[in-house]
Amino acid sequence: MLAVSFEELRSPLRFLQSTLSGFRPPDWLQQYQCWWEKEGQDISDLTDRSGTPWLRMFDLSGGRVDEILYSPDYWRMLKQGYQTGLIWRVAEENREFPCGLFPAALGIYVTSFYDPGLACPYTVSLSTFVPLSKYGDRELQERFLPRLLQKEKDVWQGATWMTEIKGGSDLGATVETIARPAGKQWLLTGDKYFASNAGAELAVVAARPEGAAPNVRGLALFLVPRFRQNGQLNYTIRRLKDKIATRSVPTGEIELRESEAWLLGRAEDGIYLILEVLNVSRVANSVGSVALAQRAMADAASFAQQRMVFGKPLIEQPLMRHQFDDRLRQLRAASNLAWRSVELLNQAWQEKPPYSERFHLFRLVAHLAKYWTAELAAQTAKWAMEVHGGLGTLQEYRAERWLREAMILAIWEGPAHRQILDGLEVMERKHAHRLLFQSLAATVDASSLRQMEEKVEQHLALSREDKEAGAEALFSELAAFTADALLQSEETSARSSR
Ligand SMILES: Cc1cc2nc3c(=O)[nH]c(=O)nc-3n(C[C@H](O)[C@H](O)[C@H](O)COP(=O)(O)OP(=O)(O)OC[C@H]3O[C@@H](n4cnc5c(N)ncnc54)[C@H](O)[C@@H]3O)c2cc1C
Repeated sequence: MLAVSFEELRSPLRFLQSTLSGFRPPDWLQQYQCWWEKEGQDISDLTDRSGTPWLRMFDLSGGRVDEILYSPDYWRMLKQGYQTGLIWRVAEENREFPCGLFPAALGIYVTSFYDPGLACPYTVSLSTFVPLSKYGDRELQERFLPRLLQKEKDVWQGATWMTEIKGGSDLGATVETIARPAGKQWLLTGDKYFASNAGAELAVVAARPEGAAPNVRGLALFLVPRFRQNGQLNYTIRRLKDKIATRSVPTGEIELRESEAWLLGRAEDGIYLILEVLNVSRVANSVGSVALAQRAMADAASFAQQRMVFGKPLIEQPLMRHQFDDRLRQLRAASNLAWRSVELLNQAWQEKPPYSERFHLFRLVAHLAKYWTAELAAQTAKWAMEVHGGLGTLQEYRAERWLREAMILAIWEGPAHRQILDGLEVMERKHAHRLLFQSLAATVDASSLRQMEEKVEQHLALSREDKEAGAEALFSELAAFTADALLQSEETSARSSR
């Protein structure tokens, strides 16, 4: 039997309430969801189909402006989330959620249920806020933080630009953008090849200070505003990408030419800061992936309830019913894993290097969650399309959109390989798996825990070649094990609170 009703499946907040014990959605979030139901979904559908942003590079007198143009409805949709408080609420003393980043994660969940791509601008704005608030000096913070935290329509947006033409996984080798010191500032020159939220007023950018090592240790993180101090453009946009999905987000190629920048933190800690930024986005991606999977299932359920096959509604056919039950359990387990990564991020996000054990545990769970939830989103979206049969392949049904969107969630913020290999590294170097098993000890029986731990230890003892080659089977088993354990724990606490 389904533990969650189809009505709950159709509402992001009701689903969260039924799967996360003790969660009560605040009024502002309920209003945000109502807005999506009444207005937002239609704007989003239209944007995906025919309203993607476009780039106007020159004004009428031939001056370079690099302005990204959107339909007015698109702005309304985008600004709704900022005004609701997806970003500003994280910086407010908040009685409902004393742990800062939680409001952003909740808002990203609701957004992603209706438009997974639109969660990107909020995510990268959050990922810009985090390093600025941790590493920016007072002057930088006074200058820029209030703009990112505005409650009004003219709020500034953030962006996180690391990837260059030679690739995004091996940043140590592929980042060719050079940073040259110029007094208190730096001047950056290079090209960013996948730059989402192009046109953002403020970006955090990976670059290599002149003369720094040609590897990952030589990278540093910089803050780059859209305009120079003299009011001229500080970066230009070569073109916008034509993508299969996340079509409401302008992803462009950015040209930095002696662009004014400020160093965040110490240059020698740069790679840690870059990874901190990526880890915030990975957690947001996990939350968004679960929301997408929920949405794909909800749409499949609506279809299967009304489609008649062999004399009864499709949903009542035993094989289909079994698939729904099974997938719903997977969805709830993945949801618990994603929200565990949010909880750990909340505890760890203010840490700076050298990190505590709590941070290493967070990193492992963030890799597991990014990997597992993105796989779930893609598999669920594919299955949801199949549930619709041939109709699922048609553009008038949303099933095909969820599949397109899911493929991007699996790739950006590092594809599966990156999550697996980085997860392996934090287990090998920081023994994060032992911390994970300690944290699960109250929920999982001792012998299953011991067996899983032995498997991980045996794997880590392999040669480097074998360890990497066989890593996916282990990582996937560990992710499923962790997600199931968290679900069991949630079910136990829900039962005891009844
Ligand atoms: C729509 C979209 C928006 C994006 N927005 C941004 C953005 O705003 N900012 C930004 O910085 N980046 C952005 N990216 C880039 C994204 O982060 C990269 O695509 C991603 O990190 C992978 O890098 P790559 O595409 O260069 O693949 P590559 O690094 O060339 O890797 C190719 C493949 O090899 C795999 N691989 C790499 N190393 C190994 C290994 N050791 N073992 C096994 N497999 C391996 C990768 O996982 C991948 O599957 C965006 C991408 C997309 C699609």
